[in-house]
Amino acid sequence: MQYRRLGSSGLKVSALSFGSWVTFKNQLDDAGARALLKQAYDAGVNFFDNAEAYAAGESERIMGRALRQLGLARDSFAVSSKVFWGGDKPTQKGLSRKHVRDACDAALARLQVDYLDLYFCHRPDLDTPIEETVRAMHELVLQGKVLYWGTSEWSADQIAEAHGVARALHATPPTMEQPQYNLLVREKVEREFARLYDSCGLGLTIWSPLASGILSGKYAHGVPADSRMALPEYHWLRERLESAQGRENVRKTQALAELARELEASVAQLAIAWCLLHSRVSTVILGATKPAQLAENLGALGVLPKLDAGVVARIEAIVANKPAQPERY
Ligand code: NDP
Repeated sequence: MQYRRLGSSGLKVSALSFGSWVTFKNQLDDAGARALLKQAYDAGVNFFDNAEAYAAGESERIMGRALRQLGLARDSFAVSSKVFWGGDKPTQKGLSRKHVRDACDAALARLQVDYLDLYFCHRPDLDTPIEETVRAMHELVLQGKVLYWGTSEWSADQIAEAHGVARALHATPPTMEQPQYNLLVREKVEREFARLYDSCGLGLTIWSPLASGILSGKYAHGVPADSRMALPEYHWLRERLESAQGRENVRKTQALAELARELEASVAQLAIAWCLLHSRVSTVILGATKPAQLAENLGALGVLPKLDAGVVARIEAIVANKPAQPERY
């Protein structure tokens, strides 16, 4: 395993980490989740990602039970939660001081831990002043309930505002952002956030490196019955897959798979390793429903050295979606 700094912080997270969205509760019971967490941990993974919204809190309960049953030393791993979608009532969602505080306490109880290593604002909340959220997060840091706080799918302007407010208040600024980043979705990481990396010391914990499985190549000939796209609650993902853009993404994946074969790698490994080429990616959060998938995906680190300039150029020619860079003088 490789370890990378979480942005400009001193925390070293494994370059590959493991998350529970969709999978815990919907596809994996306690035993299945525990087995994958152990497999990841034994391979050197030290960061586990979760959120209050995942399976309405059940995902955190499953992870909490598993971490306890596995008896992992608390100082040997980092665990996250995210606040935003906690329930239907107005006080149970968003980033108000009240919900940030209530959601943190609830996540700590479900995960059975005394503190969250990473705590994310799962989306921007247009109804709460950023200053209120910065103060609420800073308070949690002072209380020792959160070590590093960050954002997920915020815009560069919103992150810059949070930094500015934190600096002015002498409060703790956000350390990390969690955006989607993969061979099919690149704009935020490669263009929009470029101006923030040095000024804010921003680290990235990126999600859906396989675009929900598309970049594993499994959807080349339809939707396997045991796959994410076949889950009724995730019909919106399937609709995207079956759109013109989705079909184009599957076509690109098939071309990438041919290149991966030449490298004696799987296309999933190629796609995950490619994410690690970006120097601001602190960790790539993997998802998996089966031990074989996780083993394959962890093998991406071995493929990384094969991605030289020539291979990267061939990848660029296939995906043909490199974001234009801002003009510099
Ligand atoms: P991926 O894009 O890697 O998709 C993972 C899924 O793809 C697996 O659950 C599995 O689904 C399938 N898969 C994975 N590996 C293989 C393989 N080798 N061969 C075939 N199929 C494979 O990641 P996720 O979308 O799961 O995202 C990872 C994590 O990121 C989440 O768990 C969560 O922690 C975080 N996240 C954060 C978000 C945010 O808003 N901050 C949003 C989304 C995710 P199946 O077997 O069912 O087909």
